[in-house]
Amino acid sequence: MNFSADYHMTIGGRAIAGEATIDVINPATGRPFARAADCSKAALDSAVSSAQEAFRSWRCRPIEERQALVAKAGDLLLAHADELARLFTREQGRPVDLAKTEIVRGAGWMKALAQMSPPVHVAEDSDTQFIETRYVPLGVVCAIAPWNAPVSLAMWKIAPALVAGNTMVLKPSPFTPLCTLKIGELFREVFPPGVLNVVSGGDGLGPMMTSHPGFAKISFTGSSATGKRVMMSAANDLKRVSLELGGNDAAIVLPDVDLDAVAPKIFFGAFYNSAQICVATKRLYVHEDVYDGLRDRLAAIAAATRVGDGSEQGTTLGPIQNKRQFERVTALLDDARARGLTLIQGAAVPDNGGYFVPVTIVDNPPEDARVVREEAFGPILPMMKFTDIDDVIARANASEYGLGGAVWSNDVETALSIARRIETGTVWVNQNLNLRPDTPFAGHKQSGFGVENGLEGLLEYMAPQAVYVAR
Ligand code: NAD
Repeated sequence: MNFSADYHMTIGGRAIAGEATIDVINPATGRPFARAADCSKAALDSAVSSAQEAFRSWRCRPIEERQALVAKAGDLLLAHADELARLFTREQGRPVDLAKTEIVRGAGWMKALAQMSPPVHVAEDSDTQFIETRYVPLGVVCAIAPWNAPVSLAMWKIAPALVAGNTMVLKPSPFTPLCTLKIGELFREVFPPGVLNVVSGGDGLGPMMTSHPGFAKISFTGSSATGKRVMMSAANDLKRVSLELGGNDAAIVLPDVDLDAVAPKIFFGAFYNSAQICVATKRLYVHEDVYDGLRDRLAAIAAATRVGDGSEQGTTLGPIQNKRQFERVTALLDDARARGLTLIQGAAVPDNGGYFVPVTIVDNPPEDARVVREEAFGPILPMMKFTDIDDVIARANASEYGLGGAVWSNDVETALSIARRIETGTVWVNQNLNLRPDTPFAGHKQSGFGVENGLEGLLEYMAPQAVYVAR
């Protein structure tokens, strides 16, 4: 299939151009390079009614057929990974090879989740009665995705929702709509009309969707601040909600580590995708015995890391994805400078109007500095010294967030005993960023509400139904 040159929505299985459009900006230049449809209220209504209509038959299809179509969609995505990766880089910013990695992983997620089925529990099967609990789909799902990982995080929603028997209206971020619109176009040849609708638009579209009475569930990934607004909006008609939100993940480095071995892994875990990863290491606690050694190694890697246009060969890290976020990150840097904190910065970045920020390590700031307390979601890593384990665990846990965390040590048992005291939904020992489709991903505290991935993630798109049969 050749992609059309237009960025149209998919509604009821058809290409729909918006009456208006939104500009899409290449973050490596700061300039618009494409236009995407801006969904009107009427077009949204049409998407919701198409999804409601499609739900009637989709929910009744045998789950094996739904699973097969989701797996087929995964194959189709994989087959188009190269052309999508180039588009991905232009709208999102990261280097093309890493863009392709995300698309390939998104396709893998579709195929893995296509193998999942809900359980059936039989409570009684006797002469007098038969009682079972089975799981049924909810209806039309409103799926809202962020800009940092627009393809994989959309697949995290499409796969379980559709396998479970729901239909969907998916909205990408206004900053990164293009790949998602193209994927909607691609999947028109897989799913029956109305099963997967893709709409795009500006800042008004998200609230228009979350307050729409036609949705049974909202699956949202984005910031904690927006997540709270989504939950309030859902309360009106008690829509089900899953919220995958922000994080301020701590990593703890014990004094027995092999510094040369762990430094590149810790760097990658903090700065991958220019640190625009929900589970990136955002606070680094290092035992004072190895603090200077790790700081100097991370500084050397930062100096050798090329930040630039992701479409150019040799770029390791791309720009910040959008101007709003760029201004937030630079404001945090300004605040750190104003407080007199020591910043260790990597190589110089292009000065061309793109949203580039140098890799920055903040040398032992106090706990109450904004760069420590707030989720930067940009390449600023505060590293702090510790001496006492109980103290560092308390500092790691002193956050309203509870998404992920890591412990680094040559003694796995000791590391594990610390990891188990970290109050987050995911915790790693001697690794980071590793997530799997068959393993639940859940934000604790204000990092989320509900679960994605694993059987628990599938069941978020279903409701239990108890069936009592008298014999
Ligand atoms: P955001 O909250 O600004 O936007 C996310 C999505 O919500 C976008 O599609 C946006 O258009 C939409 N939206 C905005 N206001 C809305 C409203 N009032 N009602 C409904 N929808 C609305 O988040 P972002 O800046 O795109 O993403 C970055 C944040 O996402 C970070 O905090 C990051 O940690 C978090 N994140 C979390 C996960 C996770 O799985 N926990 C994954 C990736 C990103």
